Amino acid sequence: MIYQRSSALFTEAQQYIPGGVNSPVRAFKSVGGTPVFMKSAKGAYLTDADDRTYIDYINSWGPAILGHTHPEVLEAVQKQAEKGFSFGTPTELETEIARFIIENVPNIDQIRMVSSGTEACMSAVRLARGFTGRDKIIKFEGCYHGHSDSFLIKAGSGAATFGNPNSPGVTQGTAKDTLLARFNDFDQVKDLFRNNPEQIAAIIIEPVAGNMGCVLPENNFLQKLRELCDEHKTLLIFDEVMTGFRLAFGGAQERYNVKADLVTYGKVIGGGMPVGAFAGRSEIMDHLAPKGAVYQAGTLSGNPLAMRGGLETLKIIKKDSDFFNRLDKTTEILDFEIAKILNSKNIRHRINRVGSMMSIFFHIGAVSNFDEAQNANHALFNNFFHHMLKNGVYLPPSGYETYFISSAITENEIEKTLEAVRKFEYS
Ligand code: PMP
Repeated sequence: MIYQRSSALFTEAQQYIPGGVNSPVRAFKSVGGTPVFMKSAKGAYLTDADDRTYIDYINSWGPAILGHTHPEVLEAVQKQAEKGFSFGTPTELETEIARFIIENVPNIDQIRMVSSGTEACMSAVRLARGFTGRDKIIKFEGCYHGHSDSFLIKAGSGAATFGNPNSPGVTQGTAKDTLLARFNDFDQVKDLFRNNPEQIAAIIIEPVAGNMGCVLPENNFLQKLRELCDEHKTLLIFDEVMTGFRLAFGGAQERYNVKADLVTYGKVIGGGMPVGAFAGRSEIMDHLAPKGAVYQAGTLSGNPLAMRGGLETLKIIKKDSDFFNRLDKTTEILDFEIAKILNSKNIRHRINRVGSMMSIFFHIGAVSNFDEAQNANHALFNNFFHHMLKNGVYLPPSGYETYFISSAITENEIEKTLEAVRKFEYS
């Protein structure tokens, strides 16, 4: 059996950890089979407990944009560790990373560090409510903004994967303040504003959705939301936990040239350490404690190891003026070549891609929203996933996720990946 040690480890893990994992999608529940336990990672490759290696297209769900354990990041974190793991006091390093980000990202004056994307989105919404004095928010079906209560309503990612986008435990009282619209459906958003006058604090959106698979904004959707928010004095929150420092250094704000009022970050901003952040104009950020009344805090916020890992990663990206072009080109080649192979086998599919994010849907026609993502052939995706895994290619274990391409993927890895796709038989 090829996953022998993983299988034994999973059996043992289930005794001590709910479902054997610390985050649901890792359990392979939707694709079936044994989750592969990894023990190390370097560059483009993961190594599992059975000593098999895989080309990694998840990259820790986005953070490892440089590939794994980049030598310069590793050295910087090691040196930092010698100075202490955590102080619970302000440090110069926190100002250094804040300044670096603010100088290189459009449209933000201040940034607050937290420890996860969930915290970032939860805090941004609280701030938007505190700033506007309104209660309701709009979110889009299939978007995921972390597991805070207000967001677990028609949520994407693991919640969608397990067919339970609405979580038990979220009270009716909380749910009633989250209004839902279809991604890319501007008329629905307008109707929500018409029916809830002066009540909507914020629209929160993944500017490119990555949690129902990769779904792109269409027909100037983001620009139209910007105008609508201006008209109604509602804040526009871009959840750039996936897109930040990935679609461009300035994320989707830069790539689509649309300004958000608040932006949330995670993943790449920590370079693999547990980090999230939210940022915006001073006029809004000033409402946060200790300056303002909106409370938000964290024991490990701004943790020196995390700040060092993040700052080093961001600096490496920033000093390479061709970084995003190369990453985009790699992804484009993968898209075109995989499509060619699947077409030659008459396997109907749709690849959605922007920058270094992409997903393959086994679907006829466009995938522009959650309904269409759900209509894709997920059973076929599951076969494809297991075929690729057996052939040494690690894709996200769900048809509702995005592949994150790292700069460690070279021609060699592309060729090995395509070779695996060539061997795929429709069944
Ligand atoms: N927002 C988006 C867009 C995400 O993709 C995620 C996680 N995948 C989150 C928020 C939550 O981040 P975390 O898992 O770090 O809490």
